[in-house]
Order: sequence, then C-alpha cells, then structure tokens
Amino acid sequence: MKHYDVIVIGGGHAGVEAACAAARRGAKTALVTMRMDNIGVMSCNPAMGGLGKGHLIREIDALDGVMGQVADAAGIQFRLLNRSKGPAVQGPRAQIDRAIYRSVMQAVVGSQEGLQVVEGEVSGLLADAVGVRGVILASGASMTAGAVVVTAGTFLNGVIHIGDRKQSGGRVGDAASVRLGQYLADMGLRGGRLKTGTPPRLDGSTIDWAAVDMQAGDDDPVMLSFLTDKPAARQISCGVTSTNEETHEIVRRNISLSAMYGGHVEGVGPRYCPSIEDKVTRFADKDSHQVYLEPEGLNDRTVYPNGISTSLPAEIQEAYVRTIKGLGHVRILQAGYAIEYDYFDPRCLASDLSVSAAPGLFFAGQINGTTGYEEAAAQGIVAGLNAAAKSLDLEPAVFSRGDSYIGVLIDDLTTRGVTEPYRMFTSRAEFRLSLRADNADQRLTPMGRRLGCVGDSRWERFSEKSSEIARGSEMLQSVRLTPKQLAAQGIQVSNDGQSRTAFAVLGLAGVSPEHVSALLPEFKSVAPSIQRQIAIEALYQPYRDRQTADVRALQAEEGQRIEADFDYSSLSGLSNELKSKLNQIRPENMAQAGRIEGITPAALLLILSRIRSGQRVSSSR
Ligand code: FAD
Repeated sequence: MKHYDVIVIGGGHAGVEAACAAARRGAKTALVTMRMDNIGVMSCNPAMGGLGKGHLIREIDALDGVMGQVADAAGIQFRLLNRSKGPAVQGPRAQIDRAIYRSVMQAVVGSQEGLQVVEGEVSGLLADAVGVRGVILASGASMTAGAVVVTAGTFLNGVIHIGDRKQSGGRVGDAASVRLGQYLADMGLRGGRLKTGTPPRLDGSTIDWAAVDMQAGDDDPVMLSFLTDKPAARQISCGVTSTNEETHEIVRRNISLSAMYGGHVEGVGPRYCPSIEDKVTRFADKDSHQVYLEPEGLNDRTVYPNGISTSLPAEIQEAYVRTIKGLGHVRILQAGYAIEYDYFDPRCLASDLSVSAAPGLFFAGQINGTTGYEEAAAQGIVAGLNAAAKSLDLEPAVFSRGDSYIGVLIDDLTTRGVTEPYRMFTSRAEFRLSLRADNADQRLTPMGRRLGCVGDSRWERFSEKSSEIARGSEMLQSVRLTPKQLAAQGIQVSNDGQSRTAFAVLGLAGVSPEHVSALLPEFKSVAPSIQRQIAIEALYQPYRDRQTADVRALQAEEGQRIEADFDYSSLSGLSNELKSKLNQIRPENMAQAGRIEGITPAALLLILSRIRSGQRVSSSR
C-alpha cells in the first residue's frame, strides 16, 4: 500500500492550494481527484478577486500559493474595484480565460516537487482508534497517510436542478460524490444541505454587441500576484446590459416552475449572489437589474451573463434572456441550474481546520459551508499547511483576525458556523485598515517563510522590496518640516508652529510622493511603486490608531446589556439583513451580538454607540 505524508481529496480550488502548500512544506503529498483533466476548473463565473476576495488571493499569494499567479497568467481583463475609495477597500479583480487557467494550473500542479496526482474517486477513509490513516478508493485500492484533507466542494451528494428536472451531479458534466458523502455523514458530524446556482451560458456569436455598452479593463492593470508585473494574455472588454419589466414579468409568471422557488430544493442559498428569481421577488420595486456579459475566453464564444443565475426550466430561461437588450436572438449553449450539496458545520473544526472528533482529518473549501473560489483556496492553504504540520510534526500555521482575512474567515467559520453559504466581505474584518490587499505580503510572507512554504525566489523579491520600504520610511521619519516650509510647496496645514515628520506630511489629504520629493530630493531615489506603498501606510497611520481604540472598546464592552426592546430598525447604517437577524435573535448583551453570523465590527459599534447615547440621555434627565 502506498504511503504519503498528506493526501488531499479533490482537485478544485481548495484542493490544489492544500496539496501545493503541503508539498511546499516538504510533505510527500498525493492529490486524489475524480478527473485529472478537471484540475483548475472554474465551476461558475469566469472571474477571480474583487472586494474581500481580492484580499484573500493576495494573502494566498503572499504565502507563495498558486491562485494569484495562475489567475494573472489567464487574466483577460483587470479592474481594481472601488478605485475611487481608500486602498483598504479596493479589491483587484480579473476576468479569466477558463481554458488558460485550467491548463496553467495543471502545469503548476504537475511541476510541484513532492506532489503526485492520482486519478480516482475516494469512497471512504481508513481510520482506527487513533484517527484517520488514509483513504479508500472506489476501485478498492487504499493509500495511507499521516493526514488527510477533504476538499470535495459541491460534489457531496450533489443534485443538479433545472425546473422540476433533477439529476445527481457534482456540477454539470461531473458525477456526484455519493459514497464519500455517506461515509462522512456516518461519522456523525453535524451538517446540512446548501445550494447555489449558475446562469445559462450564451453563444457570443448570437449577441448583438453593438446594442450593449462595453466596459474595458483598467489602463494600468493591477495584478493579483505580487510577482506579476503585467498581463500575459490579450485584454478584452465585457458587455453591460440589463433586465427590464418584460424579463421580470416572465420570471414572475413562471416562478412556481423554478427549482429554488417551486419547493424542489431544500438547501439554503447564497443571499449575496441572488438568482433572477430572488431578484424579482426580494427586490420587486426595482424595474431593472444589470447584467454583465463576460466572455469565458479568448478562443471561446461562450459568454457568462453575470447577474441572472437561475433554476427555471430551460425554455423559460430562453424566453426571459431574449427580452434583454442585445440578447434578442441569443442562443443558449448550456442551461442555468441550481446545485444542492452536503456541507458540514465548520464548528466541528479547530482553527487549523482539523476535524476535532477525527485526528488527522482536515476539511477545506465549500464542504465547510463557504461559497467562492477564493474562500475555498484560502481554506485550502490553511488545511494543507496544517496537514503537513500534523504529519511531519512541524509548527502549526495559525492565522488571526488581526493578521489576515484568512484569519477572519477561519475564525468566523469555526466559532460562528454558517446558516447560508459564507462569502468574504471587507466589512467582516475589524482590522480592515491594516488588512489591505496592497500589504498582504508585508503581513504574511515572513510567516510563510518561517513555516517553510515560501520559496527562495519570492523571498528574495520580498526582502528587496521590504528593505526599500524601510529605507524610504526611515528617510521620511527622520526629517521634520515646519508649516512655513510646507506652505512654500503649496501644502496648507494649521499654522500651529508644530513641525511634522515628512512621513506624517505624506499621509495628509492631497499630498503626493511628488510633493514630498520636492521638499526632500533624496526621496526621489526610492522607486515610484515603493513611494506609493509608503504613502498608503502614511495615509492610514492615524486611522489605525483609532481602529485599535475601537476594537479595544468593543472587547471591553462585551458584557454590556442590550435592552430586550432595543430598536434595531431605526439604526441607520445597519443592513436590512442584520436588522432582521438582530430583531429575531434579540441578543442579551454585546458578546452575544458579536457571535451572530454576519455581524460586523462596524455594526457592533453602531449598537454600542446607540446604547451609550441612550445612557447619556437618561443620565442627563
Ligand atoms: P470544487 O471546486 O467544487 O472542487 C471539488 C473537487 O473535489 C473536484 O475536483 C471533484 O472532482 C473533487 N472530488 C469530490 N469528491 C471527490 C471524491 N470522493 N474523490 C475524489 N475527488 C473528489 N461561487 C461563487 O462565489 N459564486 C457563485 O455564484 C457560485 N455559483 C456556483 C454555481 C454552481 C452551479 C457551482 C457548481 C458552483 C458555484 N460556485 C459559486 C462555487 C464555486 O464553484 C466553489 O465555491 C468553488 O469551486 C469551491 O471550491 P472547492 O475547492 O471547495 O470545490
């Protein structure tokens, strides 16, 4: 029987990161997946990154993970979302050529030292009184390992729904994983059913492109990996169109035929990726919804209409899609569908993503109730690093809410659990001013190097960049400038006679590295990209101090009582979703409110400040 240090089950986004991370740590690793040629398949939208998700990719990349570099190699349009807002909430996003992504990912996995890919279906686990010892394949063969990571995605007892038609499947074209699903359920782990949906795929040659708006990528593309300088593939534009009253009328008239609305699907769906059925029902007052027409590749006529996922019958899909401007004669290549699958309550996991009740077993990805490629990959890297640690007796990889979005994700999952598919948002992080996409390498690469998962070439590049940031920052910290000197350069500050460090000056609104270079010519010797990085740090310095104070205040007020009749509905700034959850749960104190799934630090601060203003009013009466 073949023995490995780590066996990873599943070659999806969680699986490849887990397998590569374990191998980078020196573990002899096997990646067992149903179909080798499906490694790197993107089950749903042909895009990666965005708000929160772009942060996760940068953090994976900082640990020398594979997703960022592969996405950059396959990117056919790059856009920095929230460009007009502060860097903390900007998210790099790329439109991806599916075929390039898949082939580059397969090449990366194939060339990873210490990693072997095995094609096969895992039907059960080898386990004894001590814990999990390996896997059993459907062929009857077995393989042993010091640790096993399950990343089975949407495949566990997966059922595909289109209208009232349903069939077993892990995603369209792939068989479900029924035996492994049954094996894990028999272990007695708590779990449930979740669902997600995907839109119909369109034949781009039948779209009237002249009738829709076109959106190009950024002129100065921002890459997903710290190691990439510019796009590799030809860049394209996407189309933008929208639904209308006629579209909504067809959906409304046929809503009872939808798998999700007709009572055929019992699982809970992702609230943040609503289907067209959800949109016309939940947002009935809106007479139009935007639809992005995203080409799936440079040599592929398939177009992904982002924004209209559905589980209506195929003929209804065709009818409503054809009401949309530019899609009057469109041909559907593949009908949209919903998929329902098993997940396990992530509260059965420790913070290293090991299953508490089964030593040696780790779970990562959609199996833990998340949705999205990036969330899956982030868990994959954590599970892979820790499976290697378990097997080889190495230092565990521990992430905290203070050092990364990865830490926020793991903590949210393992302490709060999920009631609906979980996706990352910047609002979930209490330290989001310091957990930025631009500084993920500064936060995590040293830790990755210590853990042994960051290779020499990345480390060299990182070290050069870091010493240049330190040199530039010290230069600015060591020089003080008076209001008079600043005024001479057109920089107005209060005439308080106080001198300020050049670093603090660079953080002032409207002050650019060029202004500072005019006052301090030696700063010109610092590369422009490093100057920009230092400027971001300087900008956030004062806010970070306040952020730390807010977090301390929240921690100190955990015992604060919340009145039973607290009026959440009147709190402006609180989302309707949170208002309804808080109204339903009615937490007794701040600590309980903090444990509600989806609650954000900003929401807690709103509640706290209302309680405090109430206290001030009553004490002043
Ligand atoms: P997957 O990418 O699903 O990979 C699982 C892997 O495990 C596969 O390679 C499979 O072959 C393998 N496997 C399973 N069982 C076994 C076994 N027993 N033995 C060997 N190998 C096995 N995400 C969004 O962010 N937004 C969306 O709107 C969205 N919609 C989606 C709609 C559909 C229809 C689907 C299918 C997915 C959608 N997703 C969406 C989710 C996204 O695809 C997943 O979040 C992501 O792919 C999960 O990654 P993963 O690695 O956990 O699993």
